[in-house]
Amino acid sequence: KPILEIKGLRKQYATGTWGLNGIDLTVQPGEFVAVIGPSGAGKSTLLRCMNRLIEPTEGTVTFLGEDVVHAGKKGLRRIRAGMGMIFQHYNLVYRSSVLENVLHGRLGYMGSVAGMLSRYREADKEEAIALLKKVGLENEIYKRADELSGGQKQRVGVCRALAQKPSLILADEPIASLDPKSSKTVMDAIHTNCREQGIACLVNLHQVDYAKAYASRIVGIKAGRIVFDGPSEHLTNDI
Ligand code: ADP
Ligand code: ADP
Repeated sequence: KPILEIKGLRKQYATGTWGLNGIDLTVQPGEFVAVIGPSGAGKSTLLRCMNRLIEPTEGTVTFLGEDVVHAGKKGLRRIRAGMGMIFQHYNLVYRSSVLENVLHGRLGYMGSVAGMLSRYREADKEEAIALLKKVGLENEIYKRADELSGGQKQRVGVCRALAQKPSLILADEPIASLDPKSSKTVMDAIHTNCREQGIACLVNLHQVDYAKAYASRIVGIKAGRIVFDGPSEHLTNDI
């Protein structure tokens, strides 16, 4: 049974622009899918329609058998808890510690107030610390998030998404702001943890080489439509 099923998905922005123009896509549990395409192709719109950070105009999205488009408040909260998001610009709470940022993920919402560490269960803290150690942030755990480098911030973003124990990770250009060395560390962190925990992943990338290196399946998007969908090794240069 697929984890995610998208049918006839379209999105028109208030400006009149069609960000998505008829997307059909099915993702199986544990699948690692890279979404590629030029700037403005609709990659970010697609990912954000999955958890309704953006409201789709037409079409259906089904996540673990649940209708995302028509979900109510409670349903949407459950859906969002099952989808971990990773953003290009990290979206950390910069005045909070690295550990707190990861624990925020466990609560399934973005943004929280600083100084709440005492409110978390010891077992949750230990789990968050184990995640941070696993991605090489053992010396950053109690630092403020704004003291970190870009690559370190994004690894915190990865841990935050993982801490919520999602079935699906949505990563929107997670390495677009990073140098090659940090990009590799971040992609390794996403890929290894998804594989080990059987988490499916949809990751937007504009660099084809990273898509080929990490994803088993590539979805190419242009002008809001899918122009390629297949195994990474079948990707040709003209998309
Ligand atoms: P990508 O992530 O592939 O760069 P986007 O999903 O950001 O592409 O954008 C797809 C199309 O939708 C582009 O033409 C873009 O200009 C347009 N678009 C994106 N966000 C908005 C918005 N908030 N308002 C109007 N148009 C938008
Ligand atoms: P993006 O996907 O590019 O991060 P957003 O619209 O989510 O786009 O964020 C826009 C800007 O706001 C980014 O530069 C991001 O770093 C910043 N931002 C978002 N959330 C936070 C936050 N909680 N604390 C500080 N900055 C934030």
